[in-house]
Amino acid sequence: MTNRRSFLKTNTTLAMAAPFLSPGFYPMRKQKRNKKLGVALLGLGGYASGQLGPALQETKHCYLAGIVTGSPSKVPKWQDKYNIPDENVYSYDNFDSIADNDAIDIVYVVTPNALHMPFTVRAAEAGKHVICEKPMEISSDRCRKMIAACEKAGRKLQIGYRLRYESHHKQIMDFAKNETYGKIKVMDTNFSFYGINGSNWRFTDVSLSGGGPLMDIGLYSLEATLYGSQLKPIAITAQSYKSIPDKLPGMEESIFWQMEFPEGVIANCGSSYAARSNYFRVSTEKGWYAIEPAFSYGGLKGVINGESMNIKNHNQQAAQMDAFAINIQNDTPVIASGAQGLQDMVYVEAIYEAAETGKKVRV
Ligand code: NAD
Repeated sequence: MTNRRSFLKTNTTLAMAAPFLSPGFYPMRKQKRNKKLGVALLGLGGYASGQLGPALQETKHCYLAGIVTGSPSKVPKWQDKYNIPDENVYSYDNFDSIADNDAIDIVYVVTPNALHMPFTVRAAEAGKHVICEKPMEISSDRCRKMIAACEKAGRKLQIGYRLRYESHHKQIMDFAKNETYGKIKVMDTNFSFYGINGSNWRFTDVSLSGGGPLMDIGLYSLEATLYGSQLKPIAITAQSYKSIPDKLPGMEESIFWQMEFPEGVIANCGSSYAARSNYFRVSTEKGWYAIEPAFSYGGLKGVINGESMNIKNHNQQAAQMDAFAINIQNDTPVIASGAQGLQDMVYVEAIYEAAETGKKVRV
């Protein structure tokens, strides 16, 4: 059976074949300050329709200005619902002409994973700032191309890590930075859901998904251990399993991995399409704290030593997009940066290598 690593190795030509235009020279346009920045959503599927479109009605520093889609049938509904003018509607074919549209400052790439690189590169080459959904891409090499294209164009890049901007998760980042409950000793986390019956690309086409639950939802657990500890792992072990051989071609069904950090800190992580889990738990020298559910769009609950964190939920995507707009307006560094997305992909590759070889992988 083709596994993820052999797929990526034998299909590098396919993986690289997506449009990667030679970057030209794009003079820095004077940034328009004190106005809401215009966002164009590219890829109008489940996440764009269910979360990002609505969130852009709550943002204060940016707004939904345009759409880019390969499905003309979706256009009238989006135009009506969000009052999008004809001149801000693009297809994948005429998308590059967005370069001439000053109403669009940011392109938000919300396509299947393996299309993130070609669309990010095209958006940057059109002189637009880019938000790209997670996972950043399906390999670290492709992530590097995205970073290079944005740097060359002098444009900012954010990865859609909404939880880096969420209040419960920011609280645990602060606990780690300040050692509020002493040093972190052990982290436990799992993000799983039950159900692989869909025909969606994430369950059926490894050339688009790049992997199974790890690439999709396990990434949230990986991310939580990184910002939740403020540490970088030094070694990874992993195990992957499959109970239904004819589903998820080339992908794992369940994956568990363990990360060793400096000073003996350990993370025990998992992700599956055959389980129901959604938590992040941290044990420290002086107690414990947890978020459960930890990774949903809302309704997060935080607990410290058994007591509620008393933190209000808020629109995560609005917070993420507003933070990016402010980064652009003030020319400040992006928190969920391309460098972070690349770093995560290097760890993902190490997790898959550890699962396939059964060996501990040093990172
Ligand atoms: P989806 O399948 O619902 O939508 C994907 C969109 O891409 C569709 O509109 C589809 O028409 C379009 N598309 C363009 N080219 C395509 C092709 N060759 N094959 C299939 N579709 C193509 O997927 P989604 O759930 O919206 O996920 C899109 C991206 O957003 C993924 O990278 C996913 O990981 C990410 N995502 C992030 C979150 C989050 O919480 N940050 C949540 C869901 C999805």
